[in-house]
Amino acid sequence: MKLARVKANSGSVLALKVGENLVDLAAFLRARRQKDARAVAALEILDAGSRAGEPALAVAQRCDAFAPHVGELEVLAPSAIEPYALKDVDVFLPPVARPEKIVAIGRNYLAHALEGSGRVPKEVLFFSKSPSCLIGSGEDIRAPAWAGHIDPEGELAVIVGKNGRYVEKDRAMEHVLGYSIMNDVTARQMQRDDIKAGEPWFRSKSFDTFGPLGPYLVTADEVTDPHALDIKTVVNGEARQQDNTSSLMFRIPDIIAHVSRFVTLKTGDIIATGTPEGMRPVFPGDVVEITVSGLGTLRNRLVAE
Ligand code: MG
Repeated sequence: MKLARVKANSGSVLALKVGENLVDLAAFLRARRQKDARAVAALEILDAGSRAGEPALAVAQRCDAFAPHVGELEVLAPSAIEPYALKDVDVFLPPVARPEKIVAIGRNYLAHALEGSGRVPKEVLFFSKSPSCLIGSGEDIRAPAWAGHIDPEGELAVIVGKNGRYVEKDRAMEHVLGYSIMNDVTARQMQRDDIKAGEPWFRSKSFDTFGPLGPYLVTADEVTDPHALDIKTVVNGEARQQDNTSSLMFRIPDIIAHVSRFVTLKTGDIIATGTPEGMRPVFPGDVVEITVSGLGTLRNRLVAE
């Protein structure tokens, strides 16, 4: 399933991508509940997730309960989908709203490690971004001028689906609920200065809006091999980063096993797996588009705060 949260009136609507349509899943289930008892149960799961502020996580965790309805939607004629289709959606909310943690991996593509510090990590290098930096696709990245030089970083994001500490590498993929795309926006000069001064670089990664995520949470069953996905960052139509997740030095099981030695990975946590080479700054007015095969395109404009 490809799940998204989109803005509607005062709140958000959980949308399911069906072909080229975004469908209001709750509206579809409500229309089905007289005829299909399974729709009642599915609607309860969705409503509970919405009340908790995490509808996409709730639905993704219960793929089994939603599979019959997704199957039904996939074979419906476009005219039958029409009543539930969400129109003209270009602004999304982050599919995961309130993760406990965003864990980001540093220097995980060799060429990027070499273009930056030149230091190649011997073990998984991880840091944190503030969960409050999340925004969705179509929302603006706001950077104050005093933040200096801003780099976008296109990354494959892993959404954790099960709590785990000391997770064994060979069982790590059981903790993956799905995938998304993250732009690990970085105030680069500030990060370099902080590293040089021996200070942490949390602030350069965690400004409000420096964590675009989305547009979808794509459930793991739809991604045959997360280590074989093309990843591309385009700025104003010009390709800046282009690689494949097969180039990840530390793969998802290595990352989950290593990070969970230190912190319990919790359901809904986001792991940004690192960025390929191609660091060049962006400026107010620039539009950054990150595409990962099968996951869609995350699109955000940078504006001056
Ligand atoms: Mg990064």
